[in-house]
Amino acid sequence: MSSHSDASTAQAPDTPRAATTSFDALGLIPELLRAVTEEGYREPTPIQAKAIPPILQRRDVMGCAQTGTGKTAGFTLPLLQLLAPHANTSLSPARHPTRVLVLTPTRELAAQVEESVRAYSKYLPLRTAVVFGGVDIGPQMKQLHTGVEIVVATPGRLLDHLHQKSVNLSRVEFLVLDEADRMLDMGFIPDIKRILAHLPPRRQNLLFSATFPEEVRRLAKELLHAPVTVEVAPRNAPADLVTHEVHLVPELRKRALLCHLIRSRDMRQVLVFVRMKRDANRLARQLKQDGIIAKEIHSDRTQVERMEALDEFKQGKVPVLVATDIAARGLDIEQLPFVINYELPHTPEDYVHRIGRTGRAGMPGEAISLVGPEEIRFLEEIERLLKRKLPRAATPEIRSETRPSHRPREPRHERAERHAPRHQQPPSRPAAPGFDYSKPYEPSPSQKPAGPEPVAPSRRGPVRPTAALLGGKREPHK
Ligand code: AMP
Repeated sequence: MSSHSDASTAQAPDTPRAATTSFDALGLIPELLRAVTEEGYREPTPIQAKAIPPILQRRDVMGCAQTGTGKTAGFTLPLLQLLAPHANTSLSPARHPTRVLVLTPTRELAAQVEESVRAYSKYLPLRTAVVFGGVDIGPQMKQLHTGVEIVVATPGRLLDHLHQKSVNLSRVEFLVLDEADRMLDMGFIPDIKRILAHLPPRRQNLLFSATFPEEVRRLAKELLHAPVTVEVAPRNAPADLVTHEVHLVPELRKRALLCHLIRSRDMRQVLVFVRMKRDANRLARQLKQDGIIAKEIHSDRTQVERMEALDEFKQGKVPVLVATDIAARGLDIEQLPFVINYELPHTPEDYVHRIGRTGRAGMPGEAISLVGPEEIRFLEEIERLLKRKLPRAATPEIRSETRPSHRPREPRHERAERHAPRHQQPPSRPAAPGFDYSKPYEPSPSQKPAGPEPVAPSRRGPVRPTAALLGGKREPHK
């Protein structure tokens, strides 16, 4: 690894022209222009306009940009162009040495990057493989043995391949570290250093990170030679397209409020954040008990389960995805309208990452935070980072009968009510604005029995009680 602590750092100009350049003017070859046109990209995003030229000039780049800015194409397109002279259709593995290595912190991000590389390289005979843990290593080994120019990998599984000698990195010319700050958070820096020992010292290095804590700066200093720094705000900076809404709510009422928000706002695709894996499991289970289809996604679930949950969410089959910060990193969900912070993150930067999942592709998004009394200090830290106070919403007066599953005791009549057969329970409807939750539930004569399965809010059939669960009465369906 080359050490360049005295490396000079050039700043890519942040000119209006940079943002309006066409892909053509960036000097991309026809095969790539055709691929980006087919992807529907009309012009480069700011990070692409800034990163593509120096990468094509074989400069090292330090990119300050988060997922959602178009950074994947920002590094992939120029790298594919630099690889183009090597593109060939030979069947011999020797003609396809690995020349590009992209390291990502999560399996989801690795899979997404690989998907993008495939899309952008479809008119070039170059081979790509993705390797990550949690799935059978055999097929990956087989694919690597055939020879692949581009390897996208998470560090742990790549080390397994290196130990088993199923991948040879001695001819890597380009290294990309994607989401370096998250690599750091996830403790991958030692693994990365082990991987670097397998790479030739002379190569072009690109490092992308949303934030630059001291350790990432140190890594960048060790890794990058005279880097060009490119920096952009998130494609839609928090202030631009995302509406923030804070509900100050006691911990015990969060679940009922969450159900209420999902139903009353007819949320058909919402990413709900919690901090711990076990909380993701519990909340998804509770939502299902409350009649809302939900799945959880976190690092203890198998890769197949995570991919399945994500696919179902993207297709709109599962309206609620409960995620931890790590599992949600790099998730690219186009036009996600809602993000709910069921718990605030303890690091303010994570709030920015979380809300970066919404308000993308020019679509407005809402970031709603349920903030318990213990979390006020985290809210204040977020506000300090964003340099503004987030608007507090008038939280509906909800009397919760939704109990946390670990609650030790509950009055007998409530237990009986919760365990009553579904058909004896009042059906759920989102309450109308201004609905009086303080009154006891009064079933209407027209109420129908509830269906046997939890139903997505988008297919609002009769589901379990909202107003009733919340201690209110049923309103006619809107
Ligand atoms: P990324 O930050 O690389 O994860 O990209 C986020 C999203 O932006 C992906 O869905 C890309 O398909 C999309 N994207 C990338 N570049 C462009 C572009 N120039 N124009 C429109 N969309 C883009």
